[in-house]
Amino acid sequence: MSITAQSVWDNCLEFIKDNIQPQAYKTWFEPIIAVKLTDNALSVQVPSKFFYEWLEEHYVKILKVSLTKELGEKAKLVYIIKMENTYGNKQPFTEKIPSSNRSSVKSQDVDIPLNNKNPELRNPFVIPGIRNVKIESQLNPNYSFENFLEGDSNRLARSAGLAVSAKPGGTSFNPLLIFGGVGLGKTHLAHAIGVDIKDKHPEKTVLYISAEKFTQQYIDAVKKNNRNDFIHFYQIIDVLIIDDVQFLSGKTGTQDVFFHIFNHLHQNGKQVILTSDKAPVDMQDIEQRLLSRFKWGLSAELQTPDFETRVSILKNKLYRDGVEMPEDIIEYVAKNIKTNVRELEGAIISLIAQSSFNKKEITIDLARVIVEKFVKNTKREVSIDYIQKVVSDYFQMDVDTLQSKTRKRHIVQARQLAMFFAKKFTKASLASIGSQIGKRDHATVLHACKTVDNLSSTDKQFRKYVEDITKKLSV
Ligand code: ADP
Ligand code: MG
Repeated sequence: MSITAQSVWDNCLEFIKDNIQPQAYKTWFEPIIAVKLTDNALSVQVPSKFFYEWLEEHYVKILKVSLTKELGEKAKLVYIIKMENTYGNKQPFTEKIPSSNRSSVKSQDVDIPLNNKNPELRNPFVIPGIRNVKIESQLNPNYSFENFLEGDSNRLARSAGLAVSAKPGGTSFNPLLIFGGVGLGKTHLAHAIGVDIKDKHPEKTVLYISAEKFTQQYIDAVKKNNRNDFIHFYQIIDVLIIDDVQFLSGKTGTQDVFFHIFNHLHQNGKQVILTSDKAPVDMQDIEQRLLSRFKWGLSAELQTPDFETRVSILKNKLYRDGVEMPEDIIEYVAKNIKTNVRELEGAIISLIAQSSFNKKEITIDLARVIVEKFVKNTKREVSIDYIQKVVSDYFQMDVDTLQSKTRKRHIVQARQLAMFFAKKFTKASLASIGSQIGKRDHATVLHACKTVDNLSSTDKQFRKYVEDITKKLSV
């Protein structure tokens, strides 16, 4: 007898039936239809998204055991979800349909068991093993509301977040856009909302993703000709959280696809939560139609926390880590690190580490040394534009001259110095430095860095240039 999807599934069912309650079997297994078998993968059709989530949550073990018995260690289960047909006769996701079935595509007859009108759900988050389609929220449970201390600087955003998590999609805060500078808690708050929604509404599909990863997935999907699967995947999410949407600037393809996903979710009463390092008015290279969508809901700013809030954030962190620290030291750190909660935490962590590695007591002096390092290190961030400006000023030329194609020696040198400092002081890649400094390629930048290294060890005058400019860039 040849092995078919049906025969494999029948054997699985026999095993499952023996091992679970009859009622559960009837409810959760009888409605499942075996669809196809390819290599080690059995595809089964389930009636809804909720259904497969339930199976994955409660029966994943027994499914795995029974399927492994039939198909060996590499057994895989692929769910096909029978979606409600919200697209009328439009067929946006027909990619996987074998040609022999195409003629039935237009049929509205949903009783046909092998109704291939229903797409396989392809999950761009590759999750190995049996859990092929389970949508993991990608949430960090440590980023909770409880740990997100309230202060004047975040009260609006925090309470809007709470309102959204009480009624996702059911408030006028849709989308909820949280914006503010680096290290002020945007990512934390975005997770906290997701975590709280999962807690209060476990049936909702929540997904957290950075705009960067979203973009990458989209590019991959286009490459693999899966654009429709990608859109489809995102359209079934109940609560979509996209972090750092400013990353989409200039990426018109991704903006376009996001626009469509956004509209679909919004129209269906799904919640969208976004974060950005800028207010919508200040976002550059984001399409107008997308910006106007961002403004439909609420934009709430995270500001720099005041002293009291900084102290309570530090105390909370110490409390959670079970570390005691004298009050005056906590206050010293909170007084001196003002603009970034991440740095605030970083300073306290290095303080704890220093004192325990070196078996030193935590003193104000140690705190002073560490805070100084922190404050200094963080000033280090200079932009390539700024470097070009400093270098051209130093040689009394303008930036256009520095970038020009000329081979005049002193201009070439200035350009090479700018490239050298860009490499030294920024995290930009060689290619990116080259494109910003007169549209050169990465090899030119590499050559420039080597030349500057050589010259500064052989040429006294040149070494002075390097030292002078270093000083200018360091203040
Ligand atoms: P952003 O995404 O805005 O750059 P993050 O959310 O990554 O900032 O926050 C940086 C760090 O500061 C995280 O460890 C976060 O837990 C912490 N943090 C920020 N705001 C608060 C707050 N109000 N209470 C407690 N921790 C906070
Ligand atoms: Mg962030």
